[in-house]
Amino acid sequence: MSSSFQQILSLLFPRRCPVCGEMIRAAAPQLCENCAAQWQKESALPCPLCQRKARECRCAPAALSGISNMVVYSAGFYDPGNTHAVTSRLVYALKHRTDDGAAHALARDLAGVILRDFLAEGEDIRTWTITYAPRSAAGLAENGFDQSRRLAKLCARYSGARFEEIFRRDGGEMQKHLAADERRTNAAASIRLRHPGWTYSGKYILVDDIVTTGATLAECAALLRQSGARSVVLAAALRTRPKRKKRPEQTELWFAPSEI
Ligand SMILES: [Zn+2]
Ligand SMILES: [Zn+2]
Repeated sequence: MSSSFQQILSLLFPRRCPVCGEMIRAAAPQLCENCAAQWQKESALPCPLCQRKARECRCAPAALSGISNMVVYSAGFYDPGNTHAVTSRLVYALKHRTDDGAAHALARDLAGVILRDFLAEGEDIRTWTITYAPRSAAGLAENGFDQSRRLAKLCARYSGARFEEIFRRDGGEMQKHLAADERRTNAAASIRLRHPGWTYSGKYILVDDIVTTGATLAECAALLRQSGARSVVLAAALRTRPKRKKRPEQTELWFAPSEI
C-alpha cells in the first residue's frame, strides 16, 4: 500500500490511542504523543538490581536464573499496583481490547530492543524464529484472544524474524491465580511441543506479554533445548519490576541477576 493511500485512509478513519482513546492521525497503530512520552519515561525507570533501564536490564527472573546463557529482553517494567501508569493502561488495553493498538506499540518497542542487541552482536535476526507460550483455555475464554500470540506475530513482523507455532497447552489453571511454586508445576504440567519428537535445531526467541516468575517460559525453553535448539532467548513486552523482599526471613528475590 502506498504511503499516500495510507495517509488518505488515516484521514478517513482516524485511529485512536489505545491508552487514552484520543484521536491520532497515523498510518500505523501507535500511542498518542502524550501517552508515548509517558511510556518512554516509565520504561526508563531503573532496575533495582542492576540499575539499568528496563530496555537495557538483562536480569533473569528467578525461575530462569539457573538456565545458562538465558538472555531476557524487555520493553518496560510493569507495576500492577500503579493503576494510573500508562504501562498499566497499556496492559489493560493489550488484554481486553480487541483492536491491536497496544500490541503494536509494545511489539514495535520490543523488536527495537532485540534488534539493537542483535546488531551490536552481529546476529542476523532473519535466522531466528519467534514463538510464544499459548494461554490456558481458561485465559483464552476470558479474553477471547491470545495476547502473547498477537505480540509474538507482530514482534516477528517488526523485527524480521520468522514466526512459528511451536507449543500447545493442555488444560492447566490460569497462572495469575497461582502462587510462584504452583506456577512452575502448572506450567510444567500443561505446556507441550506441538510436534513431540521433532528436532528443533534453530535459534528461538520466546515472546511473552508479562513475565513475573518466568515459570512458563522456563518450561518452554527447557523443551526447546531438549529438542536440539541451539539458542533460546526470552523477550517479554513487560516484566514485573524486580524487587527485593523487605523482611530478612524472606530473602528470595523475585528476580535474580543472571550475571554479576
Ligand atoms: Zn494517549
Ligand atoms: Zn536488572
